[in-house]
Amino acid sequence: MSTFQAPKGTYDLLPPDSATFLAVRDALAAPLRHSGYGYVETPGFENVDLFARGVGESTDIVTKEMYTLTTKGGDRLALRPEGTASVLRAALEANLHKQGALPVKLWYSGSYYRYERPQKGRYRHFSQIGAEAIGMEDPALDAELIVLADQAYRSLGLRDFRILLNSLGDKECRPVYREALQGFLRGLDLDEDTRRRVDINPLRVLDDKRAEVQRQLADAPLLGDYLCDACRAYHKEVRELLTEEGVSFEDDGRLVRGLDYYSRTTFEFVHDGLGSQSAVGGGGRYDGLSEMIGGPALPSVGWALGVDRTVLALEAEGVTLDLPPSTSVFAVPLGEEARRVLFGVVTQLRRAGVAADFAYGSRGVKGAMKAANRSGARYTLVAGERDLAEGVVQLKDMESGEQNAVPVSEAAEALRKLLA
Ligand code: ATP
Ligand code: MG
Repeated sequence: MSTFQAPKGTYDLLPPDSATFLAVRDALAAPLRHSGYGYVETPGFENVDLFARGVGESTDIVTKEMYTLTTKGGDRLALRPEGTASVLRAALEANLHKQGALPVKLWYSGSYYRYERPQKGRYRHFSQIGAEAIGMEDPALDAELIVLADQAYRSLGLRDFRILLNSLGDKECRPVYREALQGFLRGLDLDEDTRRRVDINPLRVLDDKRAEVQRQLADAPLLGDYLCDACRAYHKEVRELLTEEGVSFEDDGRLVRGLDYYSRTTFEFVHDGLGSQSAVGGGGRYDGLSEMIGGPALPSVGWALGVDRTVLALEAEGVTLDLPPSTSVFAVPLGEEARRVLFGVVTQLRRAGVAADFAYGSRGVKGAMKAANRSGARYTLVAGERDLAEGVVQLKDMESGEQNAVPVSEAAEALRKLLA
């Protein structure tokens, strides 16, 4: 062991588990790539004010969880705690919303950083797949994103998750609700921090995870009873589209989310096998965000799915992904000349797109065959002096145990055909 360890709240992804992680990431992104979303990549850090304004000054993310730094040049930066503000910033900066038709549909994949209290499923460095549909108000777009996330989780074999759905209203009806909620909350017995939150962002008090707070919230007014006609109709349409597509959801009138910028549709995917870190993904509509960061009005909707927690959800459900072995052919040379010959065959195989590996060093046949077994390769190629004298290599099927001599010059092509 070295003197160093991964920083608190982080972990390393190592083989073989890292293969599952990669496959999960690919599976979460796959439905987006087939649905008109283009890939976007933004820097790992941004001007700190982008998040302060975009995510919200009163959110936990901004007040407690951001990694901030001042550069030698005096710039105030933050490691990105989430993706939406950065992606919208990038789209505005490149004027994507002025080119071609709206919405601008983008997806991303990357690392995010939050200074959290580390626990299972809650890390200081984690990974998300995200999607944003920018510049369009259409309930079908909200429904599309929920359908695609549902499809992504199902494609992995996950079943024990639920979709929670709510509407947060808009700038017409939310203020009325906000006041009603504030009135209610001010009558409760709350600690000072929470009382301050009642003044700044009362909706987020609904999101308080503490039992003693939740108990007092039983009779809190619900946003659903305050929605204006436009929001009500919009929400009805989203719900109907989901129902028509056979995606079941639960109405959760208390669902608010940690970020300030949401409006109307808001949703969360929760997995029941994950204990208190149950949210595997979430998102919603953020019609006001563009203006909050200095852009034009661009109503938008998006989500972010947590890759780490999705992997934990698979474990909780006992789902193992059927991953192809990373090596199809493993070459075991016996002797110097065989090394050169088989190295050539392996190179040929790799160039032909066959995953092949090689027993390096001189650990003897036993060690080499062990490595071949561990590699998961379907076939091994073994060659010794006698084989080479006859111009052949031994091709062994690791499943059946069957072994045949194949001319060296035909080995690569024979394997390519067997594996096709
Ligand atoms: P939570 O309520 O659990 O803190 P959140 O509302 O802060 O979640 P979002 O900002 O919506 O989460 O991020 C989307 C997804 O990213 C979450 O549903 C979760 O799966 C994942 N995620 C968020 N924070 C973390 C973290 N610290 N560690 C691991 N995954 C995370
Ligand atoms: Mg959080």
